[in-house]
Amino acid sequence: MRLPIIAGNWKMNTTVEQAIELVQEMRGRLDKVEGVEKVLCPPFISLSAVGELIGSSSIRLGAQNLYFEEKGAYTGEVSPLMLVGLCEYVILGHSERRHYFVETDEMVNLKVKAALKVGLKPILCVGERLEENEAGKTEEVVTRQVKGALAGIAPSEGLVVAYEPVWAIGSGKAATEEQANTTIGLIRHILSQLYGEQFSQAIRIQYGGSVTSANIAEFVAQPEIDGALVGGASLIATEFLGIVEQTAKAKRG
Ligand code: PEP
Repeated sequence: MRLPIIAGNWKMNTTVEQAIELVQEMRGRLDKVEGVEKVLCPPFISLSAVGELIGSSSIRLGAQNLYFEEKGAYTGEVSPLMLVGLCEYVILGHSERRHYFVETDEMVNLKVKAALKVGLKPILCVGERLEENEAGKTEEVVTRQVKGALAGIAPSEGLVVAYEPVWAIGSGKAATEEQANTTIGLIRHILSQLYGEQFSQAIRIQYGGSVTSANIAEFVAQPEIDGALVGGASLIATEFLGIVEQTAKAKRG
């Protein structure tokens, strides 16, 4: 049985003050939900404050990116070593980074390696763009991204994969649960080719793209879907709580 994982990607939203308010609003109820791993991914500058607020609760912390070098003349970047002790997870290869910051599969691969080297757990994002989906290239794109990101990397149980079709992110137009389940099944198959069946069955694969408290139950009812990476809805305390609570309910059966 894989423990479902719901992660909130706050993206470039919230000042430190607003991040504190948001966590204060949800931490009590969030902490109480059992049977789901709950991860908050605020902007870098709020990691410390949010970390202090969640303290030793059951809520986990993640960053939204890192640079693959350990230190040096890379103005504005954050190294893996700087995140050690601050957070447990790190989102890598998000489609917004691939698109706006021109991150390639090779860069994502270096980032996954760098994260694992220091014990951070990557939430590796993959997903096809609309035109790729319409051209029937979903399988090809996702296979290339997964294999590219994991090239030369030994199996690591800390790995989480998020399947996020780009056309579903922030669009209000989520994939159907069947579509998501099929592609996540494909990702699991790729993982089994790379690392063996046992490993692929243990790895958690999330769906991401316009998840809300109104549609999460349908996604997590699918056998391959182990939770969600949530953008917009993670900025609204009641929504994020609803998503986490419904996941716990659905997975309890
Ligand atoms: C995301 O950015 O990872 C995401 C899934 O965003 P949203 O939930 O807003 O579609």
